[in-house]
Order: sequence, then C-alpha cells, then structure tokens
Amino acid sequence: MLELRQITKRFGAVLANDQVDIVVKPGTIHAIVGENGAGKSTAMRIAYGFYTADSGQILVDGQVREINSPHDAIALGIGMVHQHFMLVEDMTVAENIVLGAEPGSALSLDLKSAAAQIRQLSEEFKLAVNPNEPVEHLSVGQQQRVELLKALYRHARLLILDEPTAVLTPLEVEEFFAILRRMREQGKTVIIITHKLSEVLAISDEVTVMRDGKVVGRVQTKDTNAAELARMMVGREVLLRVDKPEPQVGAAQLEVRNLSVVAADGSKRLNGVTFEVRSGEIVGIAGVEGNGQTELMEALAGLVDVSRIRGETILGGKNINSVGARLRRELGIAHIPEDRHRRGLLLDFTLAENSILGVHYRPPIAALAGGVFLDEGAIQRRANEIIEQFDVRPRNAALPARALSGGNQQKLIIGREYRLNPKVLLVSQPTRGVDIGAIEFIHRQLVSLRDAGCAILLVSAELEEVTSLSDRLLIIHEGRIAGEVDPKVATLEEIGLLMTRGH
Ligand code: ADP
Ligand code: MG
Repeated sequence: MLELRQITKRFGAVLANDQVDIVVKPGTIHAIVGENGAGKSTAMRIAYGFYTADSGQILVDGQVREINSPHDAIALGIGMVHQHFMLVEDMTVAENIVLGAEPGSALSLDLKSAAAQIRQLSEEFKLAVNPNEPVEHLSVGQQQRVELLKALYRHARLLILDEPTAVLTPLEVEEFFAILRRMREQGKTVIIITHKLSEVLAISDEVTVMRDGKVVGRVQTKDTNAAELARMMVGREVLLRVDKPEPQVGAAQLEVRNLSVVAADGSKRLNGVTFEVRSGEIVGIAGVEGNGQTELMEALAGLVDVSRIRGETILGGKNINSVGARLRRELGIAHIPEDRHRRGLLLDFTLAENSILGVHYRPPIAALAGGVFLDEGAIQRRANEIIEQFDVRPRNAALPARALSGGNQQKLIIGREYRLNPKVLLVSQPTRGVDIGAIEFIHRQLVSLRDAGCAILLVSAELEEVTSLSDRLLIIHEGRIAGEVDPKVATLEEIGLLMTRGH
C-alpha cells in the first residue's frame, strides 16, 4: 500500500530521517515505534506531503508518486491524524468534517447530505458521534473520532495516526483499538505511531522500529516481544520489569483517615478514603484517571484549601490537617506532581533555579534562613549534582527548563525531590511522556528511595507500571477505595474490573 524508499530529511544540522525504508502492506495495522526524536513523525509527515524529503521515493500501490502536499496525499487515499487535533472548536462535527473537503464551495456546502454520509460512516465503523454537536462539547476521545471520520469522509484507504493513544484513558484506548480493528476488517490500512510497547503488541500486525533517524528493525508482531522491541528502540538491553527486593517495611509514616475533598458545589471528588503508607514500601493507586487521584495527591501535598478538606492526615503520628504545602515539605513530604508544567517546574527559570525550588529559603541554599541571600555557589553545586546523578541532558544548569525534553524535565524534578531525603514521597505519573530508557532509570530511583526507608505513594495511569512497582495496590473508583490487591498475584482483569465497576 505504501512504501518509503531511502527517504532522507534534514532540518538544519539534524538528520531527522536517514535513508528510511518502510513497507506497509495493504489491510494491515503497521506500528512505527521509537523513542522521542527517532524520526517517526517526520517519516509519516513526508508520506502525507506535509514535508518534502531531501531524497528518496514514495510508492503508493507499488507506483512511484510525487506527494508534495497533503492535497496530493488525500488524492491518493492517504489520511493523517496528527498528535494535536486540528478541529475548529465552535463549529459542529459535520462542519469540521466537510471543511476543506470541497474546495471552493465552502458557502454552498450541502451540510444535510454531508451529515447523512457522516452518520453512515460512523455506523459502518462504529464511531459514535453526533454530526450536529459543536466540537467544543466533545471529549478528547470523541474529537479523535471526528478526525478519523474526517479522513474517512475524504475516502482515505490508508490512515496514519501519530501517537493517537497519548490523550486517551485506558478504557478509551480499548474502544479505539476496536475501531482500528474494524477498519482493518473493512480493508483499510492503518499506520500507528506509538512508543508504548504493550500497545504495539496488542494492536499491530507488523512493526518498524526507528532509532536516531534510521530504521533499525522490521518484525512481525507475532514473532517479537516487548524486551526485543525495547532493545531495538534504545540500542541496549532494557529492564522492563522492575527488579526489586522484598520491602523492609517499618512503621506507618503517612496515615490517611476518612479523607474527602469537597468541591464548590458540595460534591466530593475524593470521598472518605482511609489507608496508610509505611516506611520502606510503595503503595500504588490504580484507577481510571479522574476518579479522585489528583485530588488525593494535591490534598496530601497541602495544595488544597483546608476549608475543602474533611478527615485526617497524619504524618509520623502527628496530625497535619492544618499544615500548608511549604511546611509539609519541611516536615519531609516530597511531591512529584502529575502536571510538571503547572506544578513541577518554572519553565523560564534555569535548571539551577529549578533544582532548588522548595529549599530556596533554607541553608545551605539561603545564607540566612528565611532566604535573604541565595548562595550562588551552593545552588550551582546542588544543580550539578542532580544533573550528574539523574542523568539530566543536556548537562547545562544554565539552560531554562523549557529547553529540555519532557523526560529530562522529569528527571530533574525527581532528582530534586530525591535530594530532599523525604520521609514520604507522593509521586504521580512518574514516567508519562518519558522514553523507555529513562523509565527504567526512574523506576530504579524510586525503588532505591523505598529501600532507604521512604514511604512512597504512587499514582499512575499505566497499569503495568503501578503493578510492577507497588508492594501493595489500592484501586480507586469514583473517589473511593474500591479494594486492595496484592500486585504480585492479582490479574489485570481483576484490577480492571475494580477500576471500572468499583467492586
Ligand atoms: P519522533 O516523532 O520520532 O519523536 P520527529 O520526527 O518528530 O521524531 O523528530 C526527529 C528529529 O527531527 C528530532 O531531532 C526533531 O527535533 C527534529 N525535527 C522534527 N521536526 C522538525 C522541524 N520542523 N524543524 C526542525 N527540527 C525538526
Ligand atoms: Mg512524533
């Protein structure tokens, strides 16, 4: 269906695609995997005519074709859904789908017949959306369906999807995969870019692996496994399963009793949860996102106004209900937040400045307790130690945090919190958007902190991560703890049921 032959593309000094060969057979789901920056999006944007290759050829249905614009690609039956959707918020689904499909006739569009066609397509592929709904009312998952419909409406035979699951919840991912399988049944060809190995194994027929702009592997999905794919992606052995010794569990460090967070309308996003985390153990919280995890972590970090909190939080035997975020840090509660950009870093500040956030008002960073003078030398030393120990790249403390990739930003935050030597660590989505090589590293750091006696509370939407890291696993559903399981023996089905049904 599609073949890229010896495609090369430079952006200035960056060789984004280096003699890339990709062959996609008709009627298959083909995964393209690789770490961030491997060149996946570039290759597919070339196939879609979004970029033009410096050299090489594109073949469609076995014939060499000139694809110089998305218009050319669409004419050949190629559609692409980008990582960031390109929908117009205040137009309806039908208007969005038709927009641009009928050149020159935007005003005289027959939206009624378009709506009928869209209904038919959405039935055929079970892409439930209402054509007359304004896009701004749709969830992210529904917007993605609109993008798919848009491509199908333009008669795409090949759909290129760039990291389509990054924005979806685990349940939406399941539905989405069912849609892709239906498309394959109807004879469509699908290319899916992803860096999640479990998804590659679940959905694809064939895989092309990219690293540093090159294709480094081409395998049938049924003949490979996660370890092999990871090794090809990273270029070395990667430990996927967390290897950790039995926990040496001590006394309860963090006790949470009947904790609730009340919203302005009186509803409880977190509703009466009770549990404890002992020193030397990792307690995981599994759940579909939006079931109270964010509220729980923010409440424990002291980031929620006391007036909205019910119940008790006890640290090392002392009630800290009325203690604010800054003092909680002083008392030994570190926090790796889910939203790095909003809560974890000041993006315009340097790595050095970011590495002292939260300790900037006390020695050795502040020359006088209270933060009157900042000791530049001490700041630099601390930053360089974190950068060194946590392998933050590039190794330059003077860069603004904004200049780093997501994975490196996360390593900086983890290093900073690690260096606090916390009694309790609250950590949310520690590896979201992080490459597998760095994931392995981050997991090892969390285990070593545990083994140093820290009590760790871990929230993650990645079931594999939370089950392999945790010593005990709690499942949260609609703001309540729906159950506790032993992650060593519980099955994913068992956990999944608790996550979605709460019992
Ligand atoms: P992937 O999709 O595998 O994460 P990309 O294809 O987006 O990788 O990027 C490959 C390389 O090309 C990266 O180093 C990236 O920074 C660079 N790159 C991609 N697009 C551009 C662009 N428009 N301008 C400059 N550099 C780019
Ligand atoms: Mg990409």
